Amino acid sequence: MPTFAELGLAPDILAAIQDVGYEEPSPIQEQAIPPLLEGSDVIGQAQTGSGKTAAFGLPMLQYVDPTEHEVQGLVLTPTRELCIQVTQALRTYGSRKGVDVVAVFGGAPIRTQQAQLRAGGHVVVGTVGRVKDLISRHSLMLHSTRFVVLDEADEMLDLGFLEDVERILSLTPSSRQTALFSATMPPEIRRLADQYLYNPITIKVKTATLTVDTVEQFALEVSARDKAEALVGVLEAERPDQALVFVRTKIRCDQLFRTLRDRGMNVKAIHGDMTQGARDGVMISFKEGRLPLLIATDVASRGLDITGISHVVNFDVPVSPDVYVHRIGRTGRVGRSGRAITFYEPRQQREVAAIENHAGVKLSPWVKDARVAPTPVKAPPRRHSKPHVPANGGGPLRKLILSGGRAEGLEPSDIIHAITSATGLDGEAVRNIRVLERFAFFEVPEQEADRVVEQVNGTEVRGQPLRLELART
Ligand code: AMP
Repeated sequence: MPTFAELGLAPDILAAIQDVGYEEPSPIQEQAIPPLLEGSDVIGQAQTGSGKTAAFGLPMLQYVDPTEHEVQGLVLTPTRELCIQVTQALRTYGSRKGVDVVAVFGGAPIRTQQAQLRAGGHVVVGTVGRVKDLISRHSLMLHSTRFVVLDEADEMLDLGFLEDVERILSLTPSSRQTALFSATMPPEIRRLADQYLYNPITIKVKTATLTVDTVEQFALEVSARDKAEALVGVLEAERPDQALVFVRTKIRCDQLFRTLRDRGMNVKAIHGDMTQGARDGVMISFKEGRLPLLIATDVASRGLDITGISHVVNFDVPVSPDVYVHRIGRTGRVGRSGRAITFYEPRQQREVAAIENHAGVKLSPWVKDARVAPTPVKAPPRRHSKPHVPANGGGPLRKLILSGGRAEGLEPSDIIHAITSATGLDGEAVRNIRVLERFAFFEVPEQEADRVVEQVNGTEVRGQPLRLELART
């Protein structure tokens, strides 16, 4: 598996990936990033949760010139929810480079969006209807748009947007680079690709079929901030012989490890930033059964051949159904039964549905006494059902000022780390971080701002207590 750097990504993009803590590219990223960086058009057959946003987003951001004040990249999405999610991800990935990403979607005042477009916008992420509207009002000009992405094209078709998509495409330069992502490839989408993509490279991420039928599989809906507490509750109720807890990033791995250790639990963490020696030590004590609880990232757990694990907990939803299958394959081995519990946030219902659909499994809701009383199986949400609005997705953001900056050696990752550890917020809730010489600025969802100030103030980073306040609006 190549590293992000080996895929050809530039240092400022790599630094942003390091900030969010991704350890290695997901399969769609591994396959889509190199051809996109080479300038090819790409058709990606991949579903939500596969990491497709970074697959098209990182190459797009790499080619944005932040000194040029025109719309250089356009991402069309079928829904407002996806638009918000993609915008948040692209802002994070482009934060080191200073790329301005503007979201435009229906159901929100068009004037605000017009003002944002006037003020900048190197990349615009928008729903089809609103993009069309803004074009007709001359608020959105696409003559310099070199990179266009159609995200979840099959949903656009289902919602009847295909003609509008074609109209928008015809207003962009014919020399543009185009990427089309779709979970399925109905003939209409195939035709659209034939007509609007130039010699596209098709990438399909295969999904392993689940063979692990000795594993009982559960899901538990829990908000980001309650996850650690929920894990403690699950462990108390399940009393595992040995549990492996998976998280998505190195940062979260360390964070969760510290939280559990501070509660007096016998726990260790394993992730890609540890030395081989340290990893081996943890692995040996886990294999020998001396360690009951291990927090791991996907990379670090690769090749783990352990038979005794009674439980796998997906503290973070796996990035793809394949990863799900690999993770839960750690339990239920050699004739033993195992239990796998997947935590998901309300906004991740679609990711869970994608896992259920593509890995061919059904997750039952986890309840405390599930061992005694089997619960009715919950039907997975339908793929085309309206996605849940992300918990803090569309809401306004609030800017905060932190005293301390480059002079103190502060880096964006320190800020993310400090906030997520103190508040339990997801790293992705911390947006638009700017570290200046003596100060740093960042934004969080408005409804969380007071809590962030309260809980982060006084905590220490690099030996210094943090002082945080709300920026005047
Ligand atoms: P997407 O399919 O783009 O919606 O991504 C699904 C989730 O996977 C998002 O929460 C991303 O932050 C996360 N993600 C994307 N790429 C990676 C990666 N290489 N490693 C870990 N998490 C990732």
